Amino acid sequence: MATRKNTKPKSVPCSDCDGKGEIAETVRVGARKGRATDNQQAALCLTCWGTGNAPTDGE
Ligand SMILES: [Zn+2]
Repeated sequence: MATRKNTKPKSVPCSDCDGKGEIAETVRVGARKGRATDNQQAALCLTCWGTGNAPTDGE
């Protein structure tokens, strides 16, 4: 009899946001100079779309 194992999908923490799902984005002002300010805003991590898990190539 074969034992059926439950294979849990591996969740790998996103390396871009360290598994937080969001990143601190530096606010820039000025269209041309793009001067960075001291302000930072939380932004959705575009790598994992806020899930905190690294995207897999499974599907
Ligand atoms: Zn991420």
